[in-house]
Amino acid sequence: MISYLSASLVLIGLVIHVATLSPLRRLIAMLPAGSLRNKWLAMTGLIFLFIAGYLGYIVVLWGQQNKWHELPIPGLLLFGAIFVWLTIKLSMQTAIGLRRIDVLEAENITDPLTKVYNRRYLDRRLDEEVARSKRYSLELSVLMLDIDHFKRVNDTYGHQAGDVTLSTLCSLVKADLRDLDVVARYGGEEFLVICTNTAINGAALVAERLRHLVESHQVEITDGSGERQTIQISISIGVAGFCASVDSKEKLVQAADQALYRAKEEGRNRVIVAMTEVKESAKPI
Ligand code: GH3
Ligand code: MG
Ligand code: MG
Repeated sequence: MISYLSASLVLIGLVIHVATLSPLRRLIAMLPAGSLRNKWLAMTGLIFLFIAGYLGYIVVLWGQQNKWHELPIPGLLLFGAIFVWLTIKLSMQTAIGLRRIDVLEAENITDPLTKVYNRRYLDRRLDEEVARSKRYSLELSVLMLDIDHFKRVNDTYGHQAGDVTLSTLCSLVKADLRDLDVVARYGGEEFLVICTNTAINGAALVAERLRHLVESHQVEITDGSGERQTIQISISIGVAGFCASVDSKEKLVQAADQALYRAKEEGRNRVIVAMTEVKESAKPI
């Protein structure tokens, strides 16, 4: 009678171990390939060992003449199984919670339309980059980009076509820049690129390359009547670099903004470097 009770306790433990495999599989599926994933795979192997061990113990217990004082061992095995199940469940819930926080953090710093960084992130990152530049005497430049006559795109093809144009521009710009560069929406149809470790001359070449890229790209849009069309846009860019006279975030952005203003005044679709003008014929790097 006691042996059947003991075997039943171990059997329940075995069932719990088997039930653990399902959340464990979901947990592993959430993890990227790597050492952490491998450790959880090893954990799965251990649970299979437990299952085999519990099964063997049930066979040994079955039909034996056990005493009451031997009952705590199957009881402990049952609690062990419950403990493993709870640990896996909690790990799973923790992973889901952390993933949710990751998504929220990414949303918090991303512009929903263009998927580049938003103004909140830009302000924080510029503070950090300016501080780094000062401390380690690193080069730092920024580009202020603005779509030329963008209002006409909205007025002619509709606001949705304008939205598509904005996200196409950002995809183009992001794909062309280094991973280290930061692209952020400064506001409306204006974007700021932070070129880390880049002197103003290098940034001017990057700007010219972007200007040329945008000018030679056809943006696919759907107009107000549902017709698919391709349109051509151009951008003007103001470039500024961190230096003795431009030694703060505010001055850097203001210098780039003033250069952009000049680019607009001088006819658009051009790059103007704060102080030095880059001719349209500048060779892209
Ligand atoms: P300029 O060459 O001087 O820059 O002329 P512009 O027409 O591009 O500049 P303006 O400042 O007159 O117009 C900017 C337009 O950008 C007006 C605004 O409706 C549009 N805009 C700003 N944000 C968005 C957006 O998220 N989506 C769309 N579709 N349009 C936007
Ligand atoms: Mg504009
Ligand atoms: Mg503008």
